[in-house]
Amino acid sequence: MINKIKGTYDILPEDSAKWQDLEDVIRNVSKLFNFKEIRTPIFEYSELFHRGVGETTDIVKKETYDFEDRGGRSVTLRPEGTASVVRSIIENKLYADATQPLKLYYQGPMFRYERPQKGRYRQFHQFGAEAIGSNSPLIDAEIINYAATFLQALRIKNIKIKINSLGDAESKELYKEKLREYLRPNIHQLCGDCNRRYEENPLRVLDCKVDKDNPVLIEAPKPLDFLTEESKYHFDQVIAALDAIGLDYEIDKSLVRGLDYYTHTVFEIDADLESLGAQSTLVGGGRYNKLVESLDGPDTPAVGFAFGLERLLLALESVDKPQNAPFIHCFMIALGDDVQADALTMVNDLRHGGLICDYDFFNKNLKGKFKQAERLNAFFILIYGEEEAKEKMINVKDTRSGIQERVPLRNLYNYIVNNLNPSHGSCSGNCSSCDEC
Ligand code: ATP
Ligand code: MG
Repeated sequence: MINKIKGTYDILPEDSAKWQDLEDVIRNVSKLFNFKEIRTPIFEYSELFHRGVGETTDIVKKETYDFEDRGGRSVTLRPEGTASVVRSIIENKLYADATQPLKLYYQGPMFRYERPQKGRYRQFHQFGAEAIGSNSPLIDAEIINYAATFLQALRIKNIKIKINSLGDAESKELYKEKLREYLRPNIHQLCGDCNRRYEENPLRVLDCKVDKDNPVLIEAPKPLDFLTEESKYHFDQVIAALDAIGLDYEIDKSLVRGLDYYTHTVFEIDADLESLGAQSTLVGGGRYNKLVESLDGPDTPAVGFAFGLERLLLALESVDKPQNAPFIHCFMIALGDDVQADALTMVNDLRHGGLICDYDFFNKNLKGKFKQAERLNAFFILIYGEEEAKEKMINVKDTRSGIQERVPLRNLYNYIVNNLNPSHGSCSGNCSSCDEC
């Protein structure tokens, strides 16, 4: 037997509805904020991620799936979405579009070679959004609001929005110097990775998961105290916009994000839910004004976020919602070879009328056929044999009331629709707009 690759998983039929529901909410909320979907390939030249994510990041150092293709090119399975989106807008010159900023969202699988555990996989899924072309602090707030609104639409509670600013390039340089100075005498107290990060990009030391409670890091200087006037103004405006929207947030002076490209605003939303376990960060994001230029595009400011969908599904386990058992409307049992063709046509006509139908494909005895209808949670069982065919009638059993009636074939569709949900009027039982659904 060949098994799945470590850190991957199958989405089995019993779980796929949850994914589809989540994807519906992604689409609906994105529409409300007027963000349009972009789909990029799942692999790209490795150089894109080396430059776009950053040579010194954990992702590029330790987590990418790189391989040489048969033409000898180095390619990488995408570990995140932003670099590909930016590559695409440069390549397709979308930055020249009249409607600015560009408001794009994406969703799909990402690949990182990490230690698999609950909420952390090697193939996982992200929903991300990018607003490209505006440096307005209002759009930083809009992006945070978009992420928070998405969580509200999912009814995920106990969330905490954490926000911070790294400032512009000048503020970051100044801060990096101060941080290096501070860390120099203490760095031996931190983990091996931190020692490497200290040399390459000291900001990333603050993002360490091993040493996050170490006093050396807790007491380290904070980026917010080294902002230039302009950066401070930008941050104050973001805060003012969040206040105006009425979002609850917390300024977390220690928050830095793992990727190299962030400038100004960075944010995360955590959820304090038992079902999430240790991986409580649902979304991370911020402003990345230097990325488009560093990938050879024009100097273009941008801001975005990325959610992990697996963690959202774990968070949704803590949300109380009515459990709708899967059902089908009709299950057809055709008795005898001569009536099969007729029965298949009937089933097809019902489907064209919007009813979910299945068919008995097994040569079981009658008891077995009824058992199958029960397993599928069929509201109606249709029984059609030679005698019924002669009379142009069909037996219809409503499994919920137990009532069985003989119905003329030409009335079958109307009979089912009228009896589907007596208390729903004429809805077919999953309209989500009548009082009962
Ligand atoms: P973490 O600190 O948890 O490793 P990260 O900083 O690497 O997260 P990002 O690169 O910002 O995360 O990705 C955004 C979101 O994608 C995360 O907040 C998380 O929800 C999700 N995510 C990241 N890596 C994984 C993974 N290996 N498996 C599942 N979800 C992931
Ligand atoms: Mg990570």
